[in-house]
Amino acid sequence: MAYDYDLFVIGAGSGGVRASRLAAMAGAKVAVAEEDRAGGTCVIRGCIPKKYMVYASEFGRSLKHMEGYGWKVENATYDHNLFMDKMHREVDRLSGIYSRNVRNAGAEIIDDRAEFVDAHTLKLKKTGKTVTAGKILIATGGRPTMPKDVEGIEHAITSADMFHLKQLPKHILIVGGGYIGVEFAGIMSGLGVNVCLAIRKEAVLRGFDEDVRTHVHEELKRKGVKVITMANPTRIERIGDQLKTYFTNGETVAAEQVLFAIGREPNTKGLGLEKAGVKLNANGAVEVDEYSRTSVPHIFAVGDVTDRMNLTPVAIREGQAFAQTEFMNRPTAFDHAEVPHAVFAQPPAGVVGMSEAEARKAFGMVDIYKTKFRPMKDMLTGDEERVLMKIVVRAEDERVVGVHIVGPDAPEIIQAVAIAVKMGASKADFDRTCALHPSIAEELVTMREKYIPPELKPV
Ligand code: NDP
Repeated sequence: MAYDYDLFVIGAGSGGVRASRLAAMAGAKVAVAEEDRAGGTCVIRGCIPKKYMVYASEFGRSLKHMEGYGWKVENATYDHNLFMDKMHREVDRLSGIYSRNVRNAGAEIIDDRAEFVDAHTLKLKKTGKTVTAGKILIATGGRPTMPKDVEGIEHAITSADMFHLKQLPKHILIVGGGYIGVEFAGIMSGLGVNVCLAIRKEAVLRGFDEDVRTHVHEELKRKGVKVITMANPTRIERIGDQLKTYFTNGETVAAEQVLFAIGREPNTKGLGLEKAGVKLNANGAVEVDEYSRTSVPHIFAVGDVTDRMNLTPVAIREGQAFAQTEFMNRPTAFDHAEVPHAVFAQPPAGVVGMSEAEARKAFGMVDIYKTKFRPMKDMLTGDEERVLMKIVVRAEDERVVGVHIVGPDAPEIIQAVAIAVKMGASKADFDRTCALHPSIAEELVTMREKYIPPELKPV
């Protein structure tokens, strides 16, 4: 049977755009439906505007640091609307580039929402038109999860709203100590907002190495963020221009804004996946195999909608692997191991590979190398911020299986270190690499002493 398209992609975010461009360049007839603007979470309401907000917020601290280097800065002010306006213009520019790149590759962009009618047919919501395709790629991403059991939750905002605040609140409560909660706590605090971060365990960033969690947690507090732990929100009440949030541990917090950042969920609602026979897993994500193939052989899914590793570059690589497999005759499964990732906290954390706990569980014996120090730059600024570096080594063959950095430029450093880790570098390879002086990263190749926990040290 002849279909309207060889490939129909739902969602013009990171994964969908990469897949559609490659498939179109390989000669396939491709269309991409997007109900919002091209670019997806990353460009429109995630990584890109978030990183600009991180940059904006860092200047506050830099102004203080400048004094340590002899600069006098008087009457410095921050204009939130001016910055936001410039940031959104850049977001618009990037979104335009995404659309253009898709079209230049020979694919069609349809500004509409597409929903399944059956396994080969999609209905476009605005026009009511139906289209058919030989293969379909679901790349609809995810959206912020909001709790169902918190009374007054309609008063709270999500990370997407943070990019459209008309003015900065004086006080914000952030619920959730994951990537988004920690990043916005740093941003808001850097911009001079009074921040309270509420988490339901003892430390932020569950899943990260314990030393990273402790370090980021302590740095947040040192920067003036009030962190309340073991706190589960139950109710938000509006009192005048304040929102009062009640927690199970008896605490209450009053703030002008309440941001909920308690995770994200796959965008599968209303897509008609049941009509196509596409199965979801227990978390509501599209179930796929290593080639991103769903339970229906000609329907595929990549990116956050599959809830594998919710990171932009991973979605891109999954989209690329799909296009290579299905349209370029090069079967490729993306390898999800040793993907570097970063939390743009202040200072940021950069990680590749396993935490100490994961490595101990997987290999039993591991060697740990770690150091904490004040970066050279701060010797003149008086800032007490510390850098953390930690290397996790598999004892049996000395292979480096994890590197963890919290400190200035950690994401930049970790991206380069990830090459060595992916190549299987050993601790001896790190040791025989000459240091680059003076730098923060040189500590990575100068750590010689294995870390022995105090309780195991001979007395
Ligand atoms: P995360 O999964 O990272 O963290 C969620 C946080 O919310 C955890 O602290 C969790 O606590 C807490 N939480 C979960 N449910 C509740 C609840 N009902 N009440 C109170 N607290 C709750 O989610 P985020 O929203 O921060 O980010 C979503 C995903 O987006 C990330 O996992 C990441 O994949 C991606 N992302 C990546 C970024 C990057 O690469 N730099 C930046 C931003 C997002 P607990 O630990 O106890 O479960």
